[in-house]
Amino acid sequence: LAIDPPANEPVYQYRAGSDERKRIKDELQRLKATEVEIPLIIGGKPVKTGNLGRCAVPHDHNQQLGVFHQAGEKEVNMAIEASAAASEQWASMDWQDRLAIFSKAADLIAGPRRMALNAATMLGQGKNVFQAEIDAACEIIDFLRFNTYYATQIYRQQPGSGSAEWNQMEYRPLEGFVFAVTPFNFTAIAGNLPSAPAMMGNTVLWKPASTAVYSAWMLMEIFMEAGLPPGVINFLPGSGSQVGNPIMASPNLAGIHFTGSTAVFQGLWKKAAENLSQYRSYPRIVGETGGKDFVCVHPSADLDAVVAGLVRGAFEYQGQKCSAASRAYIPESLWPGIKEKLLTAMASIKVGPPEDFSNFVNAVIDRSAFDTITAAIDYAKEHDAAEIIAGGGYDDSTGFFIDPTVIVTADPHFKTMEEELFGPVLTIYVYADPDYEAMLDLCDKTSPYGLTGAVFAKERSAIAVARRKLVNAAGNFYINDKPTGSVVGKQPFGGARASGTNDKAGSIMNLYRWVSPRTIKENY
Ligand code: GLU
Repeated sequence: LAIDPPANEPVYQYRAGSDERKRIKDELQRLKATEVEIPLIIGGKPVKTGNLGRCAVPHDHNQQLGVFHQAGEKEVNMAIEASAAASEQWASMDWQDRLAIFSKAADLIAGPRRMALNAATMLGQGKNVFQAEIDAACEIIDFLRFNTYYATQIYRQQPGSGSAEWNQMEYRPLEGFVFAVTPFNFTAIAGNLPSAPAMMGNTVLWKPASTAVYSAWMLMEIFMEAGLPPGVINFLPGSGSQVGNPIMASPNLAGIHFTGSTAVFQGLWKKAAENLSQYRSYPRIVGETGGKDFVCVHPSADLDAVVAGLVRGAFEYQGQKCSAASRAYIPESLWPGIKEKLLTAMASIKVGPPEDFSNFVNAVIDRSAFDTITAAIDYAKEHDAAEIIAGGGYDDSTGFFIDPTVIVTADPHFKTMEEELFGPVLTIYVYADPDYEAMLDLCDKTSPYGLTGAVFAKERSAIAVARRKLVNAAGNFYINDKPTGSVVGKQPFGGARASGTNDKAGSIMNLYRWVSPRTIKENY
């Protein structure tokens, strides 16, 4: 019996005058008018520690959406116990019953919870309504539905049996809990990292980013409303070290599902190595980290396609995507035309709060991001090897606003060509047309990352050579398109090198990491 894959969730357009436009506006007002107090959830119960963090609003220093309680060592230990207590029943539940919970969660998001989750993502994480819709509605719904479909395929896959023997595969969960560490930039990723291992029968300790606790909390509520039993996912906001250190020291640690910075991921990996002899099994470590994602343009490329790819790839969501285009290589012959069109396109970008739906770029997430990105812009201003041709301004008087900025450099190893900034900054290097192949080699060697990248060309041979030379430079490789915006079920996402373990979020490969199969042979 063939199993049909699900369809991707349709994207709401929020047109002026539409019902959905009205509903999202009402929801934004409601969230701003109510301050929430977010507890931890341990063993299905709310726990308050009194050690409070703020649910801040990046575009308005004077607003807050509420406060959240932060976990310490005591609560982590409670959560480890709660997960151990829940694990036997959860692992032995029929997989169909487990998957039904996540399928229902997808329906809750698609229906009654859609506007709230989008509004929380807009206000708390600085997304405009379209970016919020694609992330906090469509992508998390797709993760949940497609993973349910992939899990079904895994469970049904059984080995052959001979006449006198019967062979079976039992797709057991890992023995212990999975530590899910989730980022601020995608509500969908925050939902996927704990739910994917949980679907496969694991219990989870979940530490959401402190800058995105509100939307993560909504997801936690949705999982519980969908029927998640107590203790299966335990919700532990708090500081990286206070929550992370006791978790990493627990003999029950069986896996890590991570998205965030390369430095933090490498720190977790080192801690796992230090504690290795205490763990029951080798922990499954799955992580997606940084990128320094490229756009390589061939002289045969279409100018409008390049400009659209650069603007959307570099500046959507203020460049706060691991996949954002942050360095581009443009041939001399096309540069005047691309420059003109790029500057025209940039002049029409509006920067401001997400409540005004005509704003394309909102504030960056917090003070630390603002300081890092603006320091890089200042560095470019101070160095002769670089020229800022668009943007360059910033203003933190009301919120963390940075103008979309284009730097052009004559040095292909200029700081902003090499370092990940996670902000609205694109650096361009103009190369001599005959050096196309040398430019591809340069691009490959310039960064330790390998997440996403794009090549623009009309000539097939130029595409072929880029595919070959950049074979390890990007786990998600785009031809004549921006390097961002992967869709679940269509472009499984992830990269290797310093960008992570390339276990492709939202794919069957990712789900296999969360099972420890038992092979059974019985003779008759
Ligand atoms: N999947 C997202 C994209 O393709 C990026 C995810 C991330 O930033 O971690 O744009």
